[in-house]
Amino acid sequence: MSRAQQITVLGATGSVGLSTLDVIARHPNLYQVFALTGFTRLKELLALCVRHVPRYAVVPTQDVARKLQDDLVAAGLDTRVLVGEEGLCEVAGHAQVDTVLAAIVGAAGLRPTLAAVEAGKKVLLANKESLVMSGSLFMQAVRQHGAVLLPIDSEHNAIFQCMPNDYSRGLNAVGVRRILLTASGGPFRETPLAELHDVTPEQACAHPVWSMGRKISVDSASMMNKGLELIEACWLFDARPAQVEVVIHPQSVIHSLVDYVDGSVLAQLGNPDMRTPIANALAWPVRIDSGVAPLDLFSIARLDFHAPDERRFPCLRLARQAAEAGDSAPATLNAVNEVAVAAFLDRRIRYLEIASMIEDVLGQQSVIALDELETVFEVDSKARVLAEQWLGRHGR
Ligand code: NAD
Ligand code: MG
Repeated sequence: MSRAQQITVLGATGSVGLSTLDVIARHPNLYQVFALTGFTRLKELLALCVRHVPRYAVVPTQDVARKLQDDLVAAGLDTRVLVGEEGLCEVAGHAQVDTVLAAIVGAAGLRPTLAAVEAGKKVLLANKESLVMSGSLFMQAVRQHGAVLLPIDSEHNAIFQCMPNDYSRGLNAVGVRRILLTASGGPFRETPLAELHDVTPEQACAHPVWSMGRKISVDSASMMNKGLELIEACWLFDARPAQVEVVIHPQSVIHSLVDYVDGSVLAQLGNPDMRTPIANALAWPVRIDSGVAPLDLFSIARLDFHAPDERRFPCLRLARQAAEAGDSAPATLNAVNEVAVAAFLDRRIRYLEIASMIEDVLGQQSVIALDELETVFEVDSKARVLAEQWLGRHGR
């Protein structure tokens, strides 16, 4: 029997990280945890280390590292604690690692995810922001270093499952007409427009179907998440924005569809539980048990579909515009959105101001070519400065 795959989980203390560890723990003969990383919830990180006995753990600062190292020694573990982005990149690209689960939230995930790509790893991508920021350079690095990139985002994993094996030849070449990207519509799908002014972070984070981290929950409420996913789909499947259509499907049972020129439409269905796409990507091309209950079509009974209303979801329109503008526009969109969501969660701006801030800052930033990674980070920083200035003028 071949040895167990060595897995680094970047963002182990988050929602996707925990789901991944749940799947891994079901298959101790197949997978072994090599490294776990956490930024917050560090007590949980200690408990995860005790449970999974990784070779390395990574935390944000020296102080936290010393404390965790002492606790690990007291627990009888010889897990080594590394620090900061350097530590993240080390465990992502380590020679003994086979697979890296990229589940850090936001732009902070870009360098460690790229470190895994540049080391030619099998990279399971949840951190959509890294692809949105630097799609062209990222996909170039995947090809150059022979990395295997598998999507964990449920929609993209569904699309991946509905595509033919040789889809990298191009959508036209394999007879794909368009990609249908499904969206639940989030908690405000039917909220009267006049009431959106007053919605709270708690309401925005109470997703009707999925249980997720706070940033992606707000993105789901505004449908910026679907906008980021549209851009993600364009990079992963070499599609033009016009080839990706967003479909609101409140039950979230169909995770996305692929429409072929002969009229066939292939869909992937399942209970809304991230362990399915995670297990699919971990074990690909074979299938393993994920712990997800079988889909009960009789209890679901019906599936609904609606076109998204861009007056209700201006973030979706802004993301599509950024996707069409290309170059640095998606990186700007992503950076301002991160600042806006954090400000909304801190109650410094209202929900509807998320879209206003993004629209204003996008209008202020010219679109430039992204030829190197440093330019991506410059665009990201500049957009954050402009977003903070916007907050200074409009925020509380
Ligand atoms: P989360 O907030 O629950 O977890 C985020 C993880 O990243 C945590 O481990 C946190 O400690 C770590 N982290 C946060 N800031 C960091 C920083 N500056 N440096 C290093 N680590 C940092 O988020 P989540 O819901 O698990 O989402 C993670 C990623 O997966 C996001 O990019 C999200 O868009 C994507 N995603 C999530 C889901 C889901 O169901 N939750 C589905 C699809 C895609
Ligand atoms: Mg998704």
